[in-house]
Amino acid sequence: MSTLALAGGPAVRTRPFPAGTNIGEEERRNVLDVLDSGALSGFLADWGDPFYGGPWVRECERSFAAKLGCDHAVALNSGTTGLQASLAAVGVEPGDEVIVPPYTMSASAAAVLLNNAVPVFADIEDETYGLDPISVERAISDRTSALVVVHLFGHPARMSSLLDLCSRRGLAIVEDAAQSVGATYSGRYTGTLGTAGVLSLNRHKIIQCGEGGIVLTSDPSAARIAAMVRNHGEAVVEDEGGDPFNTLGSNYRMTELHAAIAVAQLEKLDRLLEHRRRLAARLSKRLGEHAALVPPAVVDGCTHSYYLYPVRLLTDLLDGVDRGAIVDALRAEGIEVEPGYVKPLYLEPVYQRRSARGNTGCPWACGHWRGAVSYDAGLCPTTERLYADELLVLDSCRAPLDDADVDDVADAFEKVTENLDVLRALRPSER
Ligand SMILES: *Cc1c(COP(=O)(O)O)cnc(C)c1O
Repeated sequence: MSTLALAGGPAVRTRPFPAGTNIGEEERRNVLDVLDSGALSGFLADWGDPFYGGPWVRECERSFAAKLGCDHAVALNSGTTGLQASLAAVGVEPGDEVIVPPYTMSASAAAVLLNNAVPVFADIEDETYGLDPISVERAISDRTSALVVVHLFGHPARMSSLLDLCSRRGLAIVEDAAQSVGATYSGRYTGTLGTAGVLSLNRHKIIQCGEGGIVLTSDPSAARIAAMVRNHGEAVVEDEGGDPFNTLGSNYRMTELHAAIAVAQLEKLDRLLEHRRRLAARLSKRLGEHAALVPPAVVDGCTHSYYLYPVRLLTDLLDGVDRGAIVDALRAEGIEVEPGYVKPLYLEPVYQRRSARGNTGCPWACGHWRGAVSYDAGLCPTTERLYADELLVLDSCRAPLDDADVDDVADAFEKVTENLDVLRALRPSER
C-alpha cells in the first residue's frame, strides 16, 4: 500500500488537469458570419418583426426548441434573467410565495426576489439532490403560486411526483435546467417538463456561448411574456394589443454573436454528453467499490448530464476521519475537489436580513405578503448535512479530460480510503 502524499509519499497526480475549451472552428465560422454582416444585434424595442431579434437569435431559438422538443424557445443574455422572466411568465406576482431548494446556485432563488416574491425553501433528498416532494408539500401555503425545480449537478429531480403535486395544488413549475442541459426524464429533456424551463449557456455549463440563457415552454402566453420581459415589454404592449400583465421588461437580449455560438454548441451537445457519461460511468464503477463512497445515482428512467460529479461520504464508515481530512488528502494527491458545494441559501445575508431592496424589508415587509417563513439554521436538515459533512464535488467528467485522468481520480480516492488509519493519526497541523 503506497504512502499518502500527506504523509510524505508520492502524489498520485503531479500534472495539472487540462483546462481546454469546447469552442472550435464551427463557432469561429458562425461568429465571422455575424461580423461580416455588421449586424451584431437584431433587436429593436418597437412592436414589429425586430422585436424578436435577428436571424441568429431566431435560428438559435428554432434549433433549441426542435432539439429539446417544445413549442417555444426564448433566448436571453443569461440563465438568471431567463429564470426571472420565466417566473413573470408563469404568473408570479409581488407577495406570492415560490418554493425553491436551498442547495443550488443563488440565482434559482434570487430570481424569485427579482419578481418581488418570497422564496420559501423546501429540502432536497440525498439520492437525486433534487427537491423532496414531501418537504415541498409541507411548504405549500395559500400564497404559493409556483415551484422552482433545480436539476442539480445534472440529474433530474423527481418530476412525476412534483408535477402531480403541482397540478393538484394549481401551482406552476419553472425548471432550472441550467446544469442539466441534455439530461432526460422519462425520455423527455429536462426544461421541457414544467410550465417553463431555463437553460444556462454560461461558459462553465455543458454547452456555452460565454453568457446566455434559453427559456423553454410550450405555453404560448408564457413565451409571449418571456419575450416581453426580455425586451422592454412596457414600451410595446400597447401597440401589440395584448394583456399588459407582467410585461414590464428590461434589456435581457441575446446578441447575434452569442446566438451564433450557441447554435454551433447545440450541435455538439450529444457528443459532449456522451463524453461526460462515459467518464462518469468509469469513475462510478471504481468509486462504487468503496463502502464509504456514494457515486452519483442515475434513477430509473433518467439520464444525467454530469455538469458536476458529486460524491457523498458515508461518514459513519470513515472510522472517525472527517470530510476535511479526506479533502486535504485528495488535494495532496493532486486531485481537484470541493467540499460542500454551496452554503444553504437561506443562511445568506439577503434572507437573514430579510431585505432584498435597500433597507425596506421588501418583499417580506412590502405589504403584499403577510405570511410566515423561516430561514433559520436547521430548516433543511438534508441540505445542511450534505453541505456540512457529506458532499464532495468533482468536475472530472468534462472534456478534454480522458480515461487516464479519471483513473487518477479513482486511484487517489482508493489510496485515501485505504489509509484512513494513517489519516486519522495525522494532526490537523500536519495535513
Ligand atoms: C449557472 C446556473 C444558473 C444561472 O445561470 P447564468 O447563465 O450564469 O445566469 C442558475 N441556476 C443554476 C442551478 C445554475 O447552475
